[in-house]
Amino acid sequence: VSNLKLSVLGNGAAVPTAYCNPSGQLLTFEGNQFLIDCGEGTQMQLLKHKIRYRKLENIFISHLHGDHYYGLIGLISTFHLYGREKPLTIYAPADLEELIKHQLQVSKTTLNYELRFMHLENYNDDPLFESDDFYIKSFPLKHSVPCWGFVFREKPLLRKINREFIENKKIPSEQIVKIKQGSDFVDSDGVTYLNSQITIAPRKSLSYAYCSDTAYDESITKHIKDVTLLYHEATFDNSMETVASEKLHSTASQAAQIAKNSNSLKLLLGHFSARFKDPKVLLDEARKVFPNTFLSIEGRTYLIENK
Ligand SMILES: [Zn+2]
Repeated sequence: VSNLKLSVLGNGAAVPTAYCNPSGQLLTFEGNQFLIDCGEGTQMQLLKHKIRYRKLENIFISHLHGDHYYGLIGLISTFHLYGREKPLTIYAPADLEELIKHQLQVSKTTLNYELRFMHLENYNDDPLFESDDFYIKSFPLKHSVPCWGFVFREKPLLRKINREFIENKKIPSEQIVKIKQGSDFVDSDGVTYLNSQITIAPRKSLSYAYCSDTAYDESITKHIKDVTLLYHEATFDNSMETVASEKLHSTASQAAQIAKNSNSLKLLLGHFSARFKDPKVLLDEARKVFPNTFLSIEGRTYLIENK
């Protein structure tokens, strides 16, 4: 059983408050860990909520507003102090490389591990990261500085064959692979078994999309079609729609509209403006458009599944 989990570390907007941290999330899939944004305090949130991140090798930074990366140099330093040896790859806007290198240089720090920078400007529809089982892509968001969203997709799973049938018919292993890929099977008596008779469909592949920060932009939907879970920023409520579009952020209803139009299964809201001590108003507004909406809660880990 595949295990895709999302830990929300911060769900607040630009200004941190006593009850809200800036953006940061840890996505975990079968031994792989991906940090998405790293606002100030992200490390502390990981420690506070006892979320292990030893397997972290890849970090994705959406854009260079401070509330999405001010925690990065701290995390890089901590890895160094702990004697990390394995490389760390950072997918981010190109300018971040110079910023981080300068910070390391002025503190005369030579890291004992390799820090690799991959510039988001260089990717279009190419995956940032790919394995046999999944890939991660970026796509442009509509914000006041260049900004990217990220989508994680598990690759389609093979069909499953009835184990008893394999044993009864003594099907050779190379045939089993073909059947899983969709071939029919002909036994020694010349009887044809259609693929649909001897296999069952696998479960639907899991997926997760991250959209923060962005104004309402219909063109986002084509990149995040049918995702299992969508995290979308909801900085403002409906009464502030004009402010939202001026500041290139979204309202809760707009986030819900993106979830609806992309046929997402579930929507998680975040990046709440500090003015909302209780973001329930945002939840209520979003649910009118997309009922399967939830507020992200800091420190909570969500299992991403097809229900
Ligand atoms: Zn921003």
